[in-house]
Amino acid sequence: MQVALVSVGDELLAGDTVNTNAAWLGQRLAERGATVERVVVVPDRVSDIARVVNELRAEYDAVVTTGGLGPTHDDLTMEGVAAAVGVPVEEHPDAVEWITDHTDYERGDLVAGTTHLPKGARMLPNDAGVAPGCVIEGVYVLPGVPAEMEAMFERVADEFTGEYRYVTTVRADEPESALVERFAELDERFDVTVGSYPGDHVRVKLQSTDEDELDRAAAWLRERVESVE
Ligand code: ATP
Ligand code: MG
Repeated sequence: MQVALVSVGDELLAGDTVNTNAAWLGQRLAERGATVERVVVVPDRVSDIARVVNELRAEYDAVVTTGGLGPTHDDLTMEGVAAAVGVPVEEHPDAVEWITDHTDYERGDLVAGTTHLPKGARMLPNDAGVAPGCVIEGVYVLPGVPAEMEAMFERVADEFTGEYRYVTTVRADEPESALVERFAELDERFDVTVGSYPGDHVRVKLQSTDEDELDRAAAWLRERVESVE
């Protein structure tokens, strides 16, 4: 399953907040065999959210947005997603019921808009906060606060599937450019994907859907690189 992430928030674009939600979702989705094909960061602006969500939902199996939920002036994700899907935003009875049953809020105490979701959406309760998320037409709308986002994702994690990829890393204490030919040979000999990530050493990430093939490839490479470990 191919997934696109849309991270909503001016603070992400300004660099005030690091986009840890996208990193966390990338890892959790990969564990489930789903692949993240795009991460797009957009400002708190309805037209941008709507345009990007619309483009991505046409291209990928699912879109996951984070951030911009709730009733404050900069919480515009529900409106953007509703516009992308072509429905209005309206009070959702399941959201009202869940909040009054599971939080200290009474219906009258809630700031207007808290329980408004795109018409026809499936409500996702916020186990770690108040503002609900939702799913509509393959678009999953999750909160921005990391703990809230993570708890809500776990409610829908099973809906993201794919073929599991085994992963292993090989450490190489050599310049990355020196490894080029061995990478080419690795690619020829084995059915694995190879990622090369330089830092104070080169971290070589190998992935395959076949665990034995992965082990053979990793053993082959380990015999042929210099490593201080
Ligand atoms: P609330 O309902 O509390 O308003 P929200 O779902 O609207 O939450 P935001 O207002 O967008 O989320 O952000 C809430 C907090 O979560 C902020 O402190 C923000 O920095 C943080 N946050 C938002 N998006 C991300 C992200 N992609 N990665 C990490 N932190 C994030
Ligand atoms: Mg907010």
